[in-house]
Amino acid sequence: MNNAQLNELKTRYVASGAASPATQFAERAENALIWDADGNRIIDFAGGIGVLNVGHRHPKVVQAVKDQLDKVMHTCQTVMPYEGYVKVAEKLSQLTPVRGHGKVMLANSGAEALENAVKVARAATGRDNVICFTGGYHGRTFMTMAMNGKVAPYATDFGSMPGNVFRAPYPVPYHGVSEEDALNGLKMTLKTDANPRDTAAIVLEPVLGEGGFYAASTSFLEAVREICDEHGILLIVDEVQSGFGRTGKLFAIEHSGVEPDIITMAKSMADGMPISAVVGTDKVMDASGGNSLGGTYTGSPVSCAATLAVLEVFEEEKILEKSQALGDKLGERFAKWQQDFACVDNVRHLGAMAAFDVVADKAKHTPDAELTGALCKKAREKGLILLSCGLYGNTLRFLMPVTIEDEILEEGLDIVETCLKELSHA
Ligand code: PMP
Repeated sequence: MNNAQLNELKTRYVASGAASPATQFAERAENALIWDADGNRIIDFAGGIGVLNVGHRHPKVVQAVKDQLDKVMHTCQTVMPYEGYVKVAEKLSQLTPVRGHGKVMLANSGAEALENAVKVARAATGRDNVICFTGGYHGRTFMTMAMNGKVAPYATDFGSMPGNVFRAPYPVPYHGVSEEDALNGLKMTLKTDANPRDTAAIVLEPVLGEGGFYAASTSFLEAVREICDEHGILLIVDEVQSGFGRTGKLFAIEHSGVEPDIITMAKSMADGMPISAVVGTDKVMDASGGNSLGGTYTGSPVSCAATLAVLEVFEEEKILEKSQALGDKLGERFAKWQQDFACVDNVRHLGAMAAFDVVADKAKHTPDAELTGALCKKAREKGLILLSCGLYGNTLRFLMPVTIEDEILEEGLDIVETCLKELSHA
């Protein structure tokens, strides 16, 4: 079927809240390229929203999945366990920088990982409250919708949200929230709303993902760790977007040396196969009783095989070093754009988690969401998937596969530059 026919089906049968606004349907993909149903070639600078650090259909992952399909496709692991699950658990325990020895539970999506992280934190502390941050994003289930620091469009139409969720400001000095402001805000939330004795966890993205690719400083993360320790609160670090190699380390929190009690991860774990994980210290992960975590499909044998293959690719192809080098390259190009274009400001990258803000006025940092949308639309017309994010909808984020070939990277960046030339105000 071609794009037009597929769009007709989409309009008639797909719920509008689930339907893509995009009109090109993916038919085939390889590394950083996708071909649509009409045969158009598209460069993917979104990497499936940060899912594909090792590129679309990495041959090693595809082979591992095929091999697994020939053995066991599914058993519910609580009924009949299999090797992949325990091997992934072993690997993640060894690689994840939680305090002390870590244990693992696997799930299917980022939101599900966060749900389970809150469950184990509540079980381990016997407390209910959770503190999250403005600009944070954790998913589209009820608990995670309540935890999101960005309400629209995620939680606008769905009635009341679960309680016991409190919010503190995330430090974004560019938008007027200094690290000191953010820490004072967190202390105030604890003192006046959440109450330290009733607070199970503080949930934090070390780099805001949907909120705009703003990284928290080491000193802020250290201070949050200290506050947690002072009050017996668990620190949950959500690395669903920043983890698995995006920032040049396996987890972004490693840049700070801070050790959380729990880390959640998903997206890039299995090159697009659905899987997520909660890794926490033994005591926390063992706090809830038998059969309380997981579900029918959690940590499926096929997704586990893909995860193990991804971790091998990380070693063999030095993905962490490549992520750093890719980020540096993006940083150089962005710096040039910041000089050349009136609308490009606040260029930044931690490894290959790279972004800049699109502004109407550099001196005032005035967000220009309309121009950001127009740039994404124009890029799509020219064969490039470019994604925005951010509290003000004016951040352009770059999440191309770390494995992207140099020529394709340059071709994609040239498209962005052309769009900027055509649309940026003087
Ligand atoms: N946490 C973070 C930091 C995310 O970026 C996302 C997805 N954008 C989620 C959680 C939710 O993940 P999923 O869409 O797989 O439920």
